[in-house]
Amino acid sequence: MAAQDETEEDEWRFSIEDLPDSDGVDETPTEQATAGDSENSNVAGTLERRQPLEPGDIDLENALFVVLGASIVVGLLVGAVLGFWKRCRRITPLFDPAHWYSDMSDSTTEQSVAESDVCIVGAGPAGLTAGVFTARADLDTVVLSAGESILRRNAHLENFPGFPAGVNARQLLEMMEDQADRNGCERRDARVDSVSRDGESLTVRTTADTTIETESLICTSWADTGYLDGIDALEMHDRGNKTYIETEDNGSTPVDGLYAAGRITGSPHQAVVAAGDGARVGLTVIQDSDVPFYHDWVAPEGYFTDRGREIPPGCEEIDDKERRQREHKAQEVMQSYFSDSHPEEPTQHPSVVDN
Ligand SMILES: Cc1cc2nc3c(=O)[nH]c(=O)nc-3n(C[C@H](O)[C@H](O)[C@H](O)COP(=O)(O)OP(=O)(O)OC[C@H]3O[C@@H](n4cnc5c(N)ncnc54)[C@H](O)[C@@H]3O)c2cc1C
Repeated sequence: MAAQDETEEDEWRFSIEDLPDSDGVDETPTEQATAGDSENSNVAGTLERRQPLEPGDIDLENALFVVLGASIVVGLLVGAVLGFWKRCRRITPLFDPAHWYSDMSDSTTEQSVAESDVCIVGAGPAGLTAGVFTARADLDTVVLSAGESILRRNAHLENFPGFPAGVNARQLLEMMEDQADRNGCERRDARVDSVSRDGESLTVRTTADTTIETESLICTSWADTGYLDGIDALEMHDRGNKTYIETEDNGSTPVDGLYAAGRITGSPHQAVVAAGDGARVGLTVIQDSDVPFYHDWVAPEGYFTDRGREIPPGCEEIDDKERRQREHKAQEVMQSYFSDSHPEEPTQHPSVVDN
């Protein structure tokens, strides 16, 4: 068997060495080369590698390059298609498979579509305060929240006006939520996933079963801007690992109907600043809407009318009886909040919890 192998190899080597190169130049090794010195062994080796392939032979080296090249091209194509698809999904829900399934399935699994004048992303000091103002101006206001305000991490809040000895921050947030509810906001627990412009309105899609069609959108979602990726005209800037939305002083952006407030705009990282910013941007939204508005004021009876003036839009005059009733109600509510210590602990920084 060994002898047979030897013979076949010799015949094969002989036939290779006798073949002319494809360009017609005879590269048959010299006698010296076939005599076996190392240099000429290499020549013989070179000649062996350069032999034209017979039909059915496989050139492994070239095949590897072809496979590698094809993989790279396919990878690039798949990446480009996925990127394009993602972009389309952000512009219109028609490209979202969830949309197809919801069209095919029964109504219980469909995304419910609600309409609002104002949709606020985030229920921290900025979002809740903006909502109080827009709802009080009779604009239908939905506030969406994906979870906690970062203020829940505070240990004791000592610089928020109106609390001389400070206040439990979780308590204050609950009171802010209550205030938003009492003034007519609709609050929903839902993470906003994407925003797109559909005609006159903005479509706000959430990971819950809700889509909101809104005239005005106020983003207060410190520290998440990912859902705005599909809105190209928006200007953002990065600082550290955070992304901030560029706004005018009144909270408006280059995108019609889209506003931002609070820490997400890069304003100082203080609760009262975020709340004030929310109020200011809420007022901008009111002024940009069709709602007649002067100021959001509650004045004692006669304050305008006794001077022969109409009560301006947004303002209210209340008599003594109404004033007393409202004061008693406020005392009752505040007592209910402060009769006991708040049960919840501050939320720790995630990296501390992980350790
Ligand atoms: C440890 C600590 C202590 C602090 N102490 C003080 C202090 O003593 N005094 C002070 O003035 N300030 C303090 N701050 C700062 C203060 O908490 C913030 O400046 C303030 O909460 C910012 O308000 P905001 O409304 O802009 O954002 P946040 O309060 O963070 O609210 C953002 C809201 O957006 C929501 N959200 C985010 N992404 C999405 C999404 N995709 N969809 C829907 N909702 C979303 C969040 O769930 C949250 O409801 C402290 C902060 C920390 C971390």
